[in-house]
Amino acid sequence: MEKEHKHCQSCRLPFKNSLEHRAMNSDGTLNYTYCKYCMDEGEFRNPEWTIKDMKKHIKHQMVSSGVPKILANFMFYGLKGLERWKKK
Ligand SMILES: [Zn+2]
Repeated sequence: MEKEHKHCQSCRLPFKNSLEHRAMNSDGTLNYTYCKYCMDEGEFRNPEWTIKDMKKHIKHQMVSSGVPKILANFMFYGLKGLERWKKK
């Protein structure tokens, strides 16, 4: 049984209780680790991304949806503890 995360382990998007943000595996089952914005059919959408690219992406998303830059920066705090960025 795969561990169920509360946030996407790539971009930290909160899943809450809904399944709508969860990625799909290549066999059609739900992926419990990553969101559909990071993963599609079991593959990362941007496999070459580093944590730096992810931060840039999130900041852009947040700022363009009206979140103040300073708050966007604060959101990065938990990123490096996520599965995708932990080891390697
Ligand atoms: Zn994600």
